[in-house]
Formats: sequence, structure tokens, C-alpha cells
Amino acid sequence: MAPSGAHGFSQRGEGRVRGHARLRGLQGRKALSLRSPGDPWFGGLLDMSAAGKGGGALVISAHPDDEVLGCGGVLALHAGAGDPATVVITCEGESHRYGPAGVNQASHILEAVKRLGVTDVRQLRFPDQALDTLRLTELITPLERIVREVRPRVVYCQYGGDVNRDHHILFQAALVATRPTEQFIDAVYAFDTASSTEWAYPRTFVPDTWVDISTTLGAKLEAMACYVSELREYPHPRSLKALEYRARSFGNQVCVEAAEVFMTVRRISREGRAPV
Ligand SMILES: [Zn+2]
Repeated sequence: MAPSGAHGFSQRGEGRVRGHARLRGLQGRKALSLRSPGDPWFGGLLDMSAAGKGGGALVISAHPDDEVLGCGGVLALHAGAGDPATVVITCEGESHRYGPAGVNQASHILEAVKRLGVTDVRQLRFPDQALDTLRLTELITPLERIVREVRPRVVYCQYGGDVNRDHHILFQAALVATRPTEQFIDAVYAFDTASSTEWAYPRTFVPDTWVDISTTLGAKLEAMACYVSELREYPHPRSLKALEYRARSFGNQVCVEAAEVFMTVRRISREGRAPV
């Protein structure tokens, strides 16, 4: 069972904006191209004062550090471009290994996302390594509520073929919460998580999208350094040195300095726009 009343806890309040259905057509953008203050509707039609301003990025991650390992560099790109960005951390990430007292993961999370320029974090605090004890709807419901509140244009989530069982289950819930009935979502991507994606068998993660994080790799590594309980000594994949090598290796696959990689779950090019 999850802690009573913990679901949906927000670090920055529960402000919501509704009635943006008429704007859906304005949000069909090139996948992974970043909104900028120069966009004609940026800050104009949308209410920028509330959490639910729409059109930004949503990360759905299972444990504290997955959001950094998988897409910390991309999150920093979104934040740097002024995009609304929300991070969901589904599990508390400490009770299973460290007992009820934990290791203060909640504060590690806040420190980590701050390094990425993100302030909107939703810590759902489901039990760590125990999502298989829940009904899937118990996960879907809070995810759906957040999706409909923040109205993301792009969603990044765990990959369903990882070795970690929580990642499998969260991916199934994320698929439901981001289905095409949510017409403001243009793209859903699954990310690579060091020490989980490559340790699965069969190894089915085949990247189809590379994002250049040369300018934000430092922020990603600084963010990971906040997770003192999750870091390991090199050459473990969750060491800072290995994470840098990993990003550089991914980047070199497409002739850039550093990259994060994704598998496309779905991209929708709306309003008659040609795809990229
Ligand atoms: Zn994880």
C-alpha cells in the first residue's frame, strides 16, 4: 500500500488551468524543438503564472535519480529554453534499501532538479521496489491527473524493457496516462536508464532519437552528484565518470560531443504539418 494521502503531493502547489482545448492546434511543434520566448503564443494566450501552463515537458520517472540518468540533460535544455517542465518521481526510493528512516531522498530530489533548472517536482511517494503490489489504476490515476493539469507537449518516461520491475509497471501506467486521447501531447519518448536498461535481457532498447546535451552535460552530472545514496564508484554505470563516458559515447554515435538517447513511443504531427 502507498502512504495514505501522499499521492499527488506537489512541491509547488496544485495550481491548475483549464479551458485550453482551443489552443491544442497551436501546440503541434517539431518534436524536441524547444519553445522560446519568441514564440507568438509564448506567455500570451497561456497563463504563465500557474503550474498548468501547458506546452512543455513532463518526465515520468520511477525512482529518485532516474529522471537525471535518463533525461537530465534534456530537462536542462527545456528549462534553459524557458519551457514549462514537470518531473514526477513515483516511488520514495529509500525504504526498501535504507529502512523507514530513509536517507532524505526528498531533499536530494529537490537539490538535483534545481541543478537542472526545474522547480516543479511531484513526489508521489509510492513504496520503493513494490509497484507490483498495486493495481495499475492506482498508478494511472495520479499520472492522468498530472498530465491533464500540466498539459505537456512532450513526455519522457521509463523504458518498459528495463531490468527494474518498477520501471516496467510505471511504463504501462504511463502508456495509459499519455494515450492519444490527450490531444495536447505531440510526442512520448522512453529514456535509457544507466544500470537498468542495459542490464535487462533480452536487450531491446534501440535508440531512434539522439539529443545533443553538450551544453548541459555538466548540469546533468552536478544533478546526479546530489544523489549521494545512488552514486557508485567507477566503473559502475552510476558513477559520474561512467555517466560522462556514456553520454559521450551516445553523442559520438551521431557525431556530437554528448547525447541522451530515446526510443519513440509515439509522435504525432498535427494540423497538417509535415513531420521531421
Ligand atoms: Zn529506477
